[in-house]
Amino acid sequence: MRLAGKVALVTGSARGIGKAIVERFAAEGAAVVISDVANEAAARETLAAIESAGGKGMVAMFDVGDAAQVDSAVAGILAAQGRIDILVNNAGITRDNLLLRMSEEDFDAVVRTNLKGTFLLTKVVSRHMIKQRSGRIVNMSSVVGMMGNAGQSNYSAAKAGIAGFTKSMARELGSRGVTVNAIAPGFIQTAMTAGLPEAVQKAFLQQIPLGRFAAPEEVAELALFLASDAAGYVTGQVIGINGGLYM
Ligand code: NAD
Repeated sequence: MRLAGKVALVTGSARGIGKAIVERFAAEGAAVVISDVANEAAARETLAAIESAGGKGMVAMFDVGDAAQVDSAVAGILAAQGRIDILVNNAGITRDNLLLRMSEEDFDAVVRTNLKGTFLLTKVVSRHMIKQRSGRIVNMSSVVGMMGNAGQSNYSAAKAGIAGFTKSMARELGSRGVTVNAIAPGFIQTAMTAGLPEAVQKAFLQQIPLGRFAAPEEVAELALFLASDAAGYVTGQVIGINGGLYM
């Protein structure tokens, strides 16, 4: 029970990597806030499964890119749970296109959810963690933010932005007992990657030394380490989990 007594808020956790993270955290004793902008029924199903296994938590539906929604959702979570010990900024979207065909709207949408959402949540939750003098923040970057990818200039910019944001936050919050790290996943099998053309998937696979894609549960294991007491001296890091795709 590595997270006993902790409250963890994970954005974008109705499915995919976020869902695997709330399930893993709940199994380690955390009260989990399953939060998303869509798929409320799936979020409630996940909560029911966690509760029937003896865990606890709540569902909070809000858009991470909307400051007013973020502020009122976090206030509601604090009223219900009393504290937030762990924040995982996991919500993310892609709108892929080559630069010449990329609309301003698709660029803004990706930066808004991935990068601005991380900023908005961190701003309001860290205020509370500073008062608590403890906290763990884990941001979801991407291997693409480190190595780039044709067709993902908006996404790679947002994910590289998250890496820089993570390091600045680690410097601002370290003296208050709050650690801030990022995870940079490679190719993880979720709905986000299932839509990629088979040729693109094959091309990626050929570049991965471990010769396979990863399951969301493998990313959840790294998130658990970073959220736990075991990672007390780890901050400002961007940790790759990519099968060797980028080193
Ligand atoms: P996913 O699409 O399966 O899940 C993302 C979740 O975020 C969805 O439930 C979606 O509804 C939610 N979401 C989207 N916009 C939101 C908003 N504005 N507010 C709140 N929630 C919102 O994706 P995934 O593969 O599980 O990815 C999770 C995170 O990991 C993302 O940040 C993604 O960029 C990152 N990532 C994924 C991979 C991969 O290979 N799957 C690789 C690197 C990084």
